[in-house]
Amino acid sequence: MDFAFTREQETLREHLRSLLDDVCPPDYAARCDAEGRPPREAYQALAKHGWFGLVLPVEYGGTGGSAIDLAIMLEEIGRHFEELAMWVFRTLTYGGYAVMQHGTPEQKAALLPKVLSGELSFCFGLTEPASGSDAAALTTRATRSGDGYVINGQKVFTSGMDISDYCLLVTRTSTGEKKQQGITNFLVDTKLPGIEVRKIETLGQRAIGTTQVFYNDVKVPASAVLGEVDRGWQAVDSYLWYERLCLSAARTGAAQAAFEYALDYAKTRKQFGRPIGQFQAIAHKLADMKVMLDVSRMLVYRFAWLMSQGQATRSDAAVLKLYTGETYKAVSDLGLQILGGYGYCMEYPMQRFFRDSRLAVIGGGTSEIQRNIIARGLGL
Ligand SMILES: Cc1cc2nc3c(=O)[nH]c(=O)nc-3n(C[C@H](O)[C@H](O)[C@H](O)COP(=O)(O)OP(=O)(O)OC[C@H]3O[C@@H](n4cnc5c(N)ncnc54)[C@H](O)[C@@H]3O)c2cc1C
Repeated sequence: MDFAFTREQETLREHLRSLLDDVCPPDYAARCDAEGRPPREAYQALAKHGWFGLVLPVEYGGTGGSAIDLAIMLEEIGRHFEELAMWVFRTLTYGGYAVMQHGTPEQKAALLPKVLSGELSFCFGLTEPASGSDAAALTTRATRSGDGYVINGQKVFTSGMDISDYCLLVTRTSTGEKKQQGITNFLVDTKLPGIEVRKIETLGQRAIGTTQVFYNDVKVPASAVLGEVDRGWQAVDSYLWYERLCLSAARTGAAQAAFEYALDYAKTRKQFGRPIGQFQAIAHKLADMKVMLDVSRMLVYRFAWLMSQGQATRSDAAVLKLYTGETYKAVSDLGLQILGGYGYCMEYPMQRFFRDSRLAVIGGGTSEIQRNIIARGLGL
């Protein structure tokens, strides 16, 4: 068993950290959040320096990196700005991984080079008003019409729809015995007539945020289908595993940033004539935060390794998502307490970690659902 990163992986992280220190410093992230402005400059800088090619195949201009390389990248971006990591992960998952796994040669040739260059952004439309945790109960319908399809329905919480070029949209094309049957995925051009996007005001994730999307007689060509007609659920499942790795790596990075801020504060803020970190009540909080972060990081890289060996299970993905999400939430909460009244002030970054981290135990499958999956894996 080897817990060390390779020299190349260490270098990868160092290069990325130095670029992000430049293009995505803390005050930039704070401004994007406060102004509700997507971090476009940082996104483009990552593209310009070739980071979107990290896990794309060599024949499409990428470097064919591993799941561990991907986790390193998202952890480091998350450490600088979680929402930037979310944006990158969405494009790499729904425009990169999904197209690599299920795209036709034409779709790969048309889309992957533009993912690499940062020309295209992608988002994911699965959740509907009446189907959240029970995601496969979706009702947005794609009906065959001429040589294409017509889409009607409503999605909610499609994050980044307003800044994306394509949405990987999960639709129902027929009714099978099970709700997981009859599902087809489309790569829908977000600017097509009949699509209406409304921004949703949220507690956190305010730089890019999320949207409600209405599809009214949206005509798409048959070439927009990604993967097999009526058999799309298996693909959705595989995206969700990939998503869990990306989200968990990014959130572990963000939790690390919250921890580092709180640690620094505890060493410098004085009360009763000494740094507050010297009070056991504060020191123990920081010790607990460090332990949770160590475990989170080990779970991220263990899962990345399992994925690269083709050995990851549904239960492993749930353990990862549950623990890293709960850790981010707990670390931000403890961090806010360590900052006292200043943790509650918008001028300080802890409130952003606190707000953003609340989504970590809801989005991409709630903690309750992850526990259900783990329990099922135990035969319960
Ligand atoms: C900011 C934000 C961004 C998001 N981004 C996206 C996105 O880009 N694309 C997308 O498709 N979706 C996205 N989502 C949707 C997200 O994945 C769902 O919100 C989540 O899966 C939960 O669904 P729900 O909100 O409908 O809650 P519900 O499913 O209604 O759940 C409500 C409560 O009941 C609990 N519950 C439900 N079923 C069970 C059960 N069987 N056992 C125990 N407890 C249960 C839940 O855990 C939760 O506590 C986003 C959500 C938010 C808030």
